[in-house]
Amino acid sequence: MSAPALHLDKVERRYDEAGSPLEILRGVDLCLWAGQSAALVAPSGAGKSTLLHIAGLLEKPNAGEVFIAGEATVGMDDATRTALRRCEIGFVYQFHHLLPEFTALENIMLPQMIGGVSRREAADRAGQLLHYLGLSARAKHRPTELSGGEQQRVAIARAVANGPRLLLADEPTGNLDPKTADHVFDALDSIVRATGLATLIATHNMELASRMDRRLTLHDGHVVELD
Ligand code: ADP
Repeated sequence: MSAPALHLDKVERRYDEAGSPLEILRGVDLCLWAGQSAALVAPSGAGKSTLLHIAGLLEKPNAGEVFIAGEATVGMDDATRTALRRCEIGFVYQFHHLLPEFTALENIMLPQMIGGVSRREAADRAGQLLHYLGLSARAKHRPTELSGGEQQRVAIARAVANGPRLLLADEPTGNLDPKTADHVFDALDSIVRATGLATLIATHNMELASRMDRRLTLHDGHVVELD
C-alpha cells in the first residue's frame, strides 16, 4: 500500500513567550490518505493554523516528523522543501489572496508557470478548472470584479492547479454568508472527489464538517478523532 498523502508523526510545536514556552502541539499523530477529506474543528487559539502551517511545510516542528507522500521533510534543505511544497501542496485561506492586477485565468496560470508549465498548457488547465467550477464566463475578470464566493472558487482552482496531493484550507468559507459558503464548499468537495487529493480543512462550520469523511479536533495539543 502506498504512503499516506500526509503523515504527522509525534509533531510538537511550542512558542517561547517571554521565557515561558507556550506548548501548542504536544505530539500530534495524524495520517491522511489520498481521496480523504478531514475537517479540523477546534476553538480559536487551539493551534489549527499552526498545524496547517507545519503540514504545509511553511513552519518546522520543534520535534517529530512531517511526511509528505512518505517523504520525511524535516531534514530537507529549504530549496527542496519549497519545491516539494509547490508541487505537492495547495493552500486556500480565509481571504482569497488573488493577485489584483491579474485576471481569474491568469491567477490560476501563475503557479503552474512558476512550476515550469508552458503558458499554453497553463491556460488550458486554468480554463478547464474554471469551467469545472462554473466560472468560464468570469475567466477574464479581475478579482475585484468577482463576488466573494467566486473569488474563493478561483482561489480553490489556483490551489489545485499544479495537481497537488494535499490541499490545506484555513477557514476557507469563514468570510462568506452561509449560502455562499455552502456553494464554495460544494466546489471544494467536488474537486477533492474528482482529483482524489487529500484535504484538511480548518473550519468552525459544523454543518460543512459533517459532510467530510473525518472530523478531527485539537485537544490538549493532540489531534483527536471526533466520531
Ligand atoms: P488557531 O488557528 O486554532 O486559532 P493558532 O495556531 O493560530 O490557533 O495559534 C495557537 C496559539 O499559538 C495561539 O495562542 C497563538 O497566540 C499562538 N501563536 C501562534 N503563532 C505564534 C507565534 N508566531 N509566536 C507566538 N505565539 C504564537
